[in-house]
Amino acid sequence: MKVFVTRKIPGNHLEKLEKLGYEVSVSEFDRALTGEELVERVKGVDAIISMVTERVDGDLMDVAGPQLKIIANYAVGFDNIDVGSATDRGIVVTNTPSDEVNESVAEHTWSLILALANRIVEADEFVRQGHFRGWEPDLFLGTNLIGKTLGIIGLGRIGTMVARRAQGWKMQIVYFKRTRDLTCEKEMGILYCPLEDVLKKSDFLTLHVPLTEETRYMINKETLAKMKKGAYLINTARGKIVNEKHLIDALKSEQLAGAALDVFDDENDVSSELLKMSNTITTPHIGSATHQAREKMGEMAIEAIIEALSGKKPKTIVNEEVWERRRN
Ligand code: NAP
Repeated sequence: MKVFVTRKIPGNHLEKLEKLGYEVSVSEFDRALTGEELVERVKGVDAIISMVTERVDGDLMDVAGPQLKIIANYAVGFDNIDVGSATDRGIVVTNTPSDEVNESVAEHTWSLILALANRIVEADEFVRQGHFRGWEPDLFLGTNLIGKTLGIIGLGRIGTMVARRAQGWKMQIVYFKRTRDLTCEKEMGILYCPLEDVLKKSDFLTLHVPLTEETRYMINKETLAKMKKGAYLINTARGKIVNEKHLIDALKSEQLAGAALDVFDDENDVSSELLKMSNTITTPHIGSATHQAREKMGEMAIEAIIEALSGKKPKTIVNEEVWERRRN
């Protein structure tokens, strides 16, 4: 059985596949593959380990051939994969959610909230550029978090971990998702609100929904205008959930006081306008970039391949409905 890995991943997990007799090949490039390079390398493989940087659509699945049985995405989000096309073709798709990833993204989200509130990035730059000449009464005034409202859109695995950590900062929490989570409400004393109210009430608004047709650009001119004036936006979910042009306008007009983004509309070419602004913090899609999370992601992707290729339903299957009529 042949497995193609689109990029070298941390850890020694691939050895496990080799020991089991799988023929494993890894992209020779230390960068994302182009569409043509991908086409060349997937032909004839039984399994692909893909990254968020690749678009895996029906055409690519057809190029791979009828023996392709599983696409194991090395990520929690799987918006880069055309899951419908995979299901139509009997191909299993899996992802890599785990406590390690949830903790990593939740901690990264909190790093961004704290960095925004305390203006850490601007202040660091100020010192490095040699402007610091001693204490001043009004230098980089920030905001305390106690008593402020944290709005969470998407209270799933990651959103819940973000909420749990907010209790330590004595913040109030409001959240929105399509179905209420009464257990979390009871356990954490958090409040469910319709989207509009979450927008209105939040001093800090953090996004934890997957990118779907429903959530694409859900933060746009209209929703930004409904937010509390002077609020902060944090996005560690997916770039295309936010209309970046509208966000830039909201930051320029001071409708928002700041934004911290780990993900972007175009991750090959981040908006230069966004990067010039002093009230934005940017990180290069590293929400899950802890050693623990990336190790776990590798372990889970390999596990899913072993399970699927040996006829066991992978624990992390995202298209359950394919299982009964999967390719053998
Ligand atoms: P999850 O457990 O599936 O949670 C998603 C949440 O979003 C659920 O509460 C869901 O609740 C809600 N939701 C889905 N569609 C919605 C809609 N249209 N409107 C409102 N709420 C909606 O996912 P997760 O593991 O927390 O991960 C969330 C996202 O984080 C992933 O999809 C991925 O894109 C991103 N992520 C980023 C990084 C990074 O490196 N920055 C790392 C890992 C994950 P309902 O179904 O009840 O609406």
